[in-house]
Amino acid sequence: MPKHIFVTGGVVSSLGKGIASASIAKILEAKGLKVAIQKLDPYLNVDPGNMSPYQHGEVYVTDDGAETDLDLGHYERYTHSTYGRENSLTSGQIYYKVIMKERRGDYLGGTVQVVPHVTDAIKEGIREVYRNKRCDVVITEIGGTVGDIESLPFLEAIRQFRHEVGRENSLFIHLTLVPYIKAAGELKTKPTQHSVGTLREIGIQPDILLCRTEKRIDKPMKAKIALFCNVEPEAVIEARDVSSIYEVPLAFKEQGIDKVICRKLKIEYKAGSLHAWQKDVVDIALRPRFSVKVAVVGEYIELQDAYKSIYESLRHGGIANDSQVIIKRINSEKLESARALNQLKGVAGILVPGGSGGCGIEGKFRVIQHAREKKIPFFGICLGMQCAVIEFARNVLDMKGANSTEFNKKTPFPVISLLEEQEKMKDAGGAMRLGAYPCEVKKDTGAHKAYKTEQISERHRHRYEFNNEYRERFQKAGMKFSGVSPNGKLVEIVELDHHPWFIACQFHPEFKSKPDRAHPLFRDFIASALEYQKANFPKSALKPVPVAPDTLEKVIAHE
Ligand code: GLN
Repeated sequence: MPKHIFVTGGVVSSLGKGIASASIAKILEAKGLKVAIQKLDPYLNVDPGNMSPYQHGEVYVTDDGAETDLDLGHYERYTHSTYGRENSLTSGQIYYKVIMKERRGDYLGGTVQVVPHVTDAIKEGIREVYRNKRCDVVITEIGGTVGDIESLPFLEAIRQFRHEVGRENSLFIHLTLVPYIKAAGELKTKPTQHSVGTLREIGIQPDILLCRTEKRIDKPMKAKIALFCNVEPEAVIEARDVSSIYEVPLAFKEQGIDKVICRKLKIEYKAGSLHAWQKDVVDIALRPRFSVKVAVVGEYIELQDAYKSIYESLRHGGIANDSQVIIKRINSEKLESARALNQLKGVAGILVPGGSGGCGIEGKFRVIQHAREKKIPFFGICLGMQCAVIEFARNVLDMKGANSTEFNKKTPFPVISLLEEQEKMKDAGGAMRLGAYPCEVKKDTGAHKAYKTEQISERHRHRYEFNNEYRERFQKAGMKFSGVSPNGKLVEIVELDHHPWFIACQFHPEFKSKPDRAHPLFRDFIASALEYQKANFPKSALKPVPVAPDTLEKVIAHE
């Protein structure tokens, strides 16, 4: 049986529980332990895939086609594991399971209750993570904030879980806030005391506290928190704001969090080194030699989290090229007039990500045309590829009114459409292509230059496809189909001849990029953007914006 670590959060949301959990996994993995991470979300939605990006940020897609919470993205980026359906569980899914059982009569008419039926289903969900798999440690992150009504069944379930598996096999880590009050010039521990108090009321005594803070928490302050919250002083870990989220594992390890975890869980302590992570990721992220500005042109651009994996992958591409990446986020609706293109001044690469609503679609065509004609590196992803195809049809092949049938059912040139078999499916949800699919990459193409292999597997989340009736006409005009499904039927990657870097893919490469192993397409996109920048704006290419703490994030937020 694996050891269990449960991560809860207190005081406020958005303290970075996902990153904290992923960082702990990273530290343990470096010791040779096999770690799995799981997210339990308190909301009642059964299918996170249907949740609005405006409320919930990005939908992260796993190999097995599960549409999950974006925290799974952090888990995969920090560790070597790939996760799936069982690693993301919502209250809605748990209740759904219990209610279906009740409908089938499995409870034989007994009263169905939160305790024990819902809590039992939660515990089952936790065990599901390591069924038929080797796993040394399972980290279970509980979404929401302690004190919320919604997370109570989860907290009760993990309390019971510890009771069943014992102290040596389970550990509670609580992430809390230690705010700095300017007027008093002091850090305050009271919110943490209250939050731990609330946890204790429901029978959970945390073993380790992660204290999110702006300022240093010194030893006497740690001792005070330890005393009032009933934890050991060395189990009070400062989680100070950092410039790059990839510093967090280093900061935790420096304070010996792994020693406390190993001692409490009776895991034999091996030091494990994060040296490579420090050298290949953090050092470069903090002190890059170059700087490059790229634009992301999409519809949910105002939201920090809606394209989380895209922004992270761009940074990975930067790290692979020793470069800072300044991301200019542009709402495609604002690009619908030709004059608006001056927003692209100083931009050395353009990325159009996925989307669905059709909002600002004309702006996307305009920016793609600009990238194509001005030979600015261009990267299209999912809807971004579909838009690149439509733009090419309209402006190169002179197919006036070409479109995707998603946006205009009556278009004279449906260059993007549903497959015939999809048309027959009434339930639109059923027609979605989700999860990992193989793709064959053609030799002597930009895609092959990036991947250096002909066989790849990438994750999908879309319904519409390139319409094969038009393949020949596109090819003749200079669009290459550099990636296709193994049966040759589905176009997965398109690119242009006579352009330094114009590649667009139907899949989502951003779900497979890691800071220490940038996705090859992101790596090469940034490399070509750097080339463009050096050729066109030579002064700015070599000068990273001075990195004060948080600069990278702020640049993204303000640009
Ligand atoms: N709306 C498009 C489709 O369903 C693209 C989806 C996406 O970009 N994820 O095919």
